[in-house]
Amino acid sequence: MKRKLEGQTAIVTGASSGIGAGVAKALAAEGAAVVINHSSSADKAAAVLDEIKKAGGKGIVVKADVSNEADVQAMFKETYKQFGTVDILVNNAGLQKDAKFHDMTLDEWNRVIAINLTGQFLCAREAIKEFLRRGVVPERSKAAGKIICMSSVHEVIPWAGHANYAASKGGIMMLMKTIAQEYAPQKIRVNSIGPGAIRTPINHAAWQTPESYNQLLKLIPQKRIGEAEDIGGAAVWLASDDSDYVNGITLFVDGGMLLYPGFEDNG
Ligand code: NAD
Repeated sequence: MKRKLEGQTAIVTGASSGIGAGVAKALAAEGAAVVINHSSSADKAAAVLDEIKKAGGKGIVVKADVSNEADVQAMFKETYKQFGTVDILVNNAGLQKDAKFHDMTLDEWNRVIAINLTGQFLCAREAIKEFLRRGVVPERSKAAGKIICMSSVHEVIPWAGHANYAASKGGIMMLMKTIAQEYAPQKIRVNSIGPGAIRTPINHAAWQTPESYNQLLKLIPQKRIGEAEDIGGAAVWLASDDSDYVNGITLFVDGGMLLYPGFEDNG
């Protein structure tokens, strides 16, 4: 049976760890050549590529800070040099710099917005240019290109102590919808994934002890933390023609976190 992403090329930003690594592996398993981007963790990125190659997939590692325009342009150039074009962009790189709002420094604010939001703008802009130039290649996909933005349940759930992060994810929601609207006529699809709590280094403190894990489960009706593979499966679906009529949505993958779990027990 033909794999869902055979012959396609995907750039996954921040793929040296956590969700990005899981997504890169899942896309590669469906036949995509994967560009594993990292900004400062070459060894971890190389280990992800190694795993992909051992499983019979292919890819390359490219270092680029997604908040730096020249780095992003160089990453796309390298992708074209190695694979000719790009079909899928997974805008995943992100970080948290948490602080009480009245203590938040301008640097903490700017850094989170620069990487989480401006980084998605810079990468999406390069991808859209290439999708417009190349158009649809029917043997590969019904779409001229697919962009998947890694958002969060915090594009809709406010989060005290994380104003910069929540603002970046709210921004991603409108960035995603606006680009989806702007380029749908050219058969470009742009969607987001909104993860709930996924077991990665970003939220280590929330699952590392039984006490913190049990506290976390109060927020998750399904009563388990998510794993990177849960997001990998969603990314494959959004990148493949199985979701060809899906455009401009956030697919929440959160074990029910958005279901007002405080009301589980009659409120
Ligand atoms: P993570 O810390 O494991 O991964 C983040 C990745 O982004 C790392 O590979 C890191 O090196 C990379 N990165 C950071 N700054 C970068 C830059 N300037 N340029 C390129 N890469 C950079 O955390 P994760 O949980 O896997 O997070 C991935 C994405 O998922 C983030 O956008 C995060 O906001 C989102 N998310 C995570 C959760 C969760 O529960 N883990 C929930 C909702 C959303």
